[in-house]
This record gives sequence, C-alpha cells and structure tokens, in this order.
Amino acid sequence: MTAADSFLSKWADIAALGSAAAVLSWDQETKMPSKGQAARGHALSVLAGMHHDQLTDPGLADTIAAAADAAGGDPTLAAQVEAARRDVVRASAIPGDLARRMAEVKSRALGSWQQAKADADFGAFAPVLSEVIALTLEQADALVDAGIAEKPYDALLDAYEPGATEAQLAELLGDLRAELSPLVKAVADSGVMVDESPARGAFPDAAQLSLGRTVAGALGYDFDAGRLDASAHPFTSSFGPGDVRITWRSERDDFRPGLFGIMHEAGHAMYEQGLPGDLARTPLGEAVSLGIHESQSRLWENQVGRSRPFWEWALPLFHEAFPESSAVTVDSLFPALHTIKPSLIRVEADEATYNLHIVARFEIERRIMAGAVDVNDLPELWSDTYDELLGVRPTSVSDGVLQDIHWAMGAIGYFPTYTLGNLVAAQLFDAATDAIDDLPGRIAAGDFEPLLDWLRKNVHQHGRRLSADELVEHATGAPLSSEPFLAHLRTTAREVYDI
Ligand code: ZN
Repeated sequence: MTAADSFLSKWADIAALGSAAAVLSWDQETKMPSKGQAARGHALSVLAGMHHDQLTDPGLADTIAAAADAAGGDPTLAAQVEAARRDVVRASAIPGDLARRMAEVKSRALGSWQQAKADADFGAFAPVLSEVIALTLEQADALVDAGIAEKPYDALLDAYEPGATEAQLAELLGDLRAELSPLVKAVADSGVMVDESPARGAFPDAAQLSLGRTVAGALGYDFDAGRLDASAHPFTSSFGPGDVRITWRSERDDFRPGLFGIMHEAGHAMYEQGLPGDLARTPLGEAVSLGIHESQSRLWENQVGRSRPFWEWALPLFHEAFPESSAVTVDSLFPALHTIKPSLIRVEADEATYNLHIVARFEIERRIMAGAVDVNDLPELWSDTYDELLGVRPTSVSDGVLQDIHWAMGAIGYFPTYTLGNLVAAQLFDAATDAIDDLPGRIAAGDFEPLLDWLRKNVHQHGRRLSADELVEHATGAPLSSEPFLAHLRTTAREVYDI
C-alpha cells in the first residue's frame, strides 16, 4: 500500500464513524420513539469519542506525514494532506479533559435552556450559560495556542467558516447594516400594507408534501439518493453523496414555511449530492463551509423560489394542489413572498430583516468574547440591540435572548454564516444569470438543469479544494460583496412597497 493509500484508507474509516453517527442522529430526529433517548445519547457519545480518538491518534499523524512526503507534484494529494492536517490540529487542540467538561455542561445547558425558554425565566439559565461561555472562551484560547487563528473569536468562527475573521465580518456586516436599516425604515414609512392573504388559507399536509416533493424533484434533488421526512425543525443530513436526506414541517394555514423549507433543504442536499464522488470519504470530499452551504439553500429558496419566473412555472401545480386557492395569481402572490417587516424571531424573519437579526447576534457575541458583558445583563443588551437595529423590543425573554439554541450548545461564531449564505447566494445567482442563456425563461419553463449544472461546476464539484473566499471569486469573478444581495432587495422593495 502506498503512503497515500494508507492515509486515505485510515481517513475513510474515520469518515465511516461520522456517517454512522449521522444516521443515528437522523433517526433520533425523525423516527425514534421518545423512550429511546437515553440509549441513543449513549451510543452517540461513544461514537463521538471513537471519532475524536481516531482523529487525534499519533498513527494517523504519521500516515499524514508520510503522505505529505509523497505528495510532491500531486496537487490533489497535497490538498488532501492540508485539509486533513487542519482537522487534526483542530481536534487535537482541545485537551480531552476540556472536551469532556464541555460535553457535560452542554447537555445540562440544553435541558436548562429548553425549560428556561418555556418558563420565560432567563435567571434559571444564566448560571449554566456562564459556564458554557467560560468553557467556550477556554476552548477558543486553546485553539489560538494551537495556531488555528490569532484571536479567540476568530478561532470560533473558523470552526464554521474556515478562514473567516471578526474584522472581515465587522466590515461586511457593518456595510449591510448601514444599507438595510434605512431600507427597512423606508418600507415602514411607505404605509404600504402587503396583502398576505394569497399565501394563507387551508393547506392540507398531504397536498403540501406532494407539491414539495414535485418541486424538489424538478429542481434536481435526487430522491434515489435521498428521502423526505417530517421533523420538528427542518434539516438536511448527509451520509455521503448517495444518501442525503431532508426533512420538513408544515403550517396548515400558510403554505410558505412548508414549501420554502423544502426548497431550502433541497438546496443544501443538492450541494451534498453534487460533491465529487471520487473524493467521497476523503478530507476534500466535504462542503467547504457553512456559509457556502447556506448559499446553496438560500439560492433555491429565495433567488429561485420567490421569483416570478419560478411561479410562472409553479402556479398550475399550486392550483392543482390547493383548489381552494385557484384565484391566486403570480401578481397577487408576489408581494406576499417579499414582505419586509421588523419582527422579534429570527427564524420567522423575512429576507431583508433576517440579516439585522444576525447583525444583532454578531455584535453581542463580539462583546461576550471581549469579556465586556456580564451574562446577567444579556436580556437587557439583547432588547436594546433589537430596539436600535429593528425598532422592536421583546416583552418576554422567550422571544428575546432565549429564542435560539446556539449559545446553549456553545456554538458562538455560528450565526454570521447565515448572512454569509444570503450574500453568497445573491452573488452566485447574478453570475449564473450572466452565464446562462435566458435563465429566467428556463426557470419559467420548469427547466432548472442549467442552473443546477452551473452550481455543480462552480460550487459543488470543488468540495474543499477551494476555500470559501476562493470559491466565490472563482465562480463570480469578484470577491464577496453585499452589493448583489442589496440590489436584489432594493428591486423587490421598489416593486412591492413602491419606494
Ligand atoms: Zn440552511
């Protein structure tokens, strides 16, 4: 066996542990009876331990070093080695004792967060949140010591968006904030009330599911390499390009969360299904970052799913699924797909204000990481930040600082990837529109293949070969910018709100 083969075969074994854990997690969220919780938690923690042990095993480091020596003149192997090293350094940077304390505190924090959110009682959650934050800071310091990044917050961001830094995000999100705030205010001042009734009515689950399946299949989601099930929160789970599953949830009286949720997850899944098969189970055969992942879901959900051409194609299917909505037209529906209205809850926010929810979290996380905020003051800081950015104040902590699960999981640095996804989606879609002959016409004809092919070629097929920044520049000819996204918003806002 060559050095490269033995490195890649070890890596494939480690990837198999990750896949096995992912299957168990998928089952936990979709099929498992509630009494299975304890046994499943145990099985998952054993697998996570084995995964960590194998990744930090000195034997693996030796095979990586041998492969590095053999990689001269083989750029793919050199990139495999580089990606593997990154993962190993990250896994090895956290001492076992710290990892165990973190796992223990996180499981307590999740239970406490759920209860505190149900009771609207931040005080009950604050002590364990303080512990999570302290350990997260400790973890960030360990990552800085290992050379992952220069600053603690950068080291956390890097877990979700490799290479991203606070300074870069501060500039990008600062620009966005400066443009979005006046836009949201202009919309509020326009006095226009969007008629959302075309999106409301009675939408039976079975009909929603059937429409969602038809649409996902038409976009290019491969049901022979996936499946669609119900879950409390929609998600995508990949066990390799040949098995990428999505979930959905519905609202009876509003078709939007169900259909757009399915299009969103199908976008995530088509990325995973499109990762290069010859790189499967290797360090390069994965998505490059969460921001790029989110760009794939948002592109199909927003740039395609909320567009007129899409609805020119989809409206007959919509009428067939929901005969009671037969009076709905593309023109009557369009405004209801582009409302801009400040709200308290991130996951329910529209395309425009969503990013201000992210700016709020980013600003608060920066202060947490700088040690500039007492945990007990977070509810007040949250409310003040929302007031300033969105002009709304939560009356309950459940709709405020307790709404998201992320901090209870120690996932500080995760939120910015959502906005990166929105920005990248708009920039990629513009580039695809330039590159594809009559893309709007193709979409209106239900022909999504040219767009999916373009994404396969410019995004999916690279796996982790290119960094997120390189990928954006390679695909669009320009570095990441908020301008395409803002231009998209201004166009729809002009049409819907006449501003
Ligand atoms: Zn997503």
